[in-house]
Amino acid sequence: MMEDFNYSMPTKIFYGENIVEKKKDIFKEFGKKALIVTGKNSAKKNGSLDDLTKVLKEENIEYSIFDKIEENPPMELAEEGAKIGKEEKVDFIIGIGGGSPLDSAKGIGVLINNPQAKKEDLYSKTLMESIPVIAIPTTAGTGSEVTQYAIFTNHKEKTKKGFSHKVFPKIALLDAKYLMATPDNVTINTGIDALSHIIEGYLSANANIISDALAKQGLTLFKACKDALYKKEFAYEIREKLMLMSTLGGMVIAQSGTSLPHGMGYALTYFHKIPHGMANGLLLKEYLGFCEDKEKVDTILNLMGMRDLNELGDYLRTLLPCEICISNEEINNYTESMISNKAKLKNHPYEVKREDVYNIYKNSLI
Ligand code: NAP
Ligand code: FE
Repeated sequence: MMEDFNYSMPTKIFYGENIVEKKKDIFKEFGKKALIVTGKNSAKKNGSLDDLTKVLKEENIEYSIFDKIEENPPMELAEEGAKIGKEEKVDFIIGIGGGSPLDSAKGIGVLINNPQAKKEDLYSKTLMESIPVIAIPTTAGTGSEVTQYAIFTNHKEKTKKGFSHKVFPKIALLDAKYLMATPDNVTINTGIDALSHIIEGYLSANANIISDALAKQGLTLFKACKDALYKKEFAYEIREKLMLMSTLGGMVIAQSGTSLPHGMGYALTYFHKIPHGMANGLLLKEYLGFCEDKEKVDTILNLMGMRDLNELGDYLRTLLPCEICISNEEINNYTESMISNKAKLKNHPYEVKREDVYNIYKNSLI
């Protein structure tokens, strides 16, 4: 008998070329004034910011722009963005960019909606609502446009941590043309982040028949992009597939959460500046080798078009060149930190021992 499960995906997804222009009438449903949250450069270069501001002007929606978001955004930036949003009395937020601006948009939305809240309240036990968030992704990786999660760098705890609130964007507008000028390394790292979401979600204790169907479709899309990622040849049709794979990955982890590769990868990003997707990718082969559900692991490899785990390992090693020097002592410290991250551990369907985490790190990195 199948176990009980829930499935919910409250974000409306619109996909297509020039989708911001095609769907311009949706913005006014959320109010008269928007805060645009984005990174320092890319949205100006890839045309997404121009497309958006043109449409907002046509629709008579006022806007302010907060374009200071950095990679792996610190909580402090959410507070700074919220201050502007409160002063400008914005009704809703539009995040444009990779996962960093989209996550920041969610944190800023919570802090605007709860004007007394401070950055520490991003982790408060009391769940808080956000003002509406619209998400326009320009990387194909995090799937943040369809998840309730937002990850902030927490310097006090020397790590990255998901906030405690649940903010699904109301709308996700997906246009693969914004990905066209993405540098190869960003395309690859973000693509492997999406792959990690799909794999971790498919193997999760919280997977269900619907999230599995999404994950399998995501793996099929990955197979279609596999050679292009290897050769770094990114035609529009490949960008479209990467974008959809990423959104499917987001829809999977919205149900299942992520597990060991994400939980273990955060330390590599915080202490060694390894990009998020690369950090997950470095750990994937060993994680799959450790997973007990061999049938599911075989399904993953089959759908990806990989003969076995060694082929996957060779593929990822070529794709993710990484020269870090990491000591045994560091691995012990990261292992301690992962083993105390109960929230992530419970997403793995079986008991995880200290030595399992240690071995995944060691076999992946030393
Ligand atoms: P990112 O940190 O948002 O951006 C990485 C770099 O790519 C930045 O330099 C950015 O430039 C640039 N960039 C973005 N779009 C571009 C484009 N179209 N063309 C050229 N360059 C572009 O990267 P990300 O991997 O998408 O996001 C990573 C963050 O998301 C991490 O903090 C991770 O923990 C989080 N995450 C969230 C979820 C979730 O469910 N919410 C899931 C997984 C990961 P600019 O700064 O100039 O824009
Ligand atoms: Fe991720």
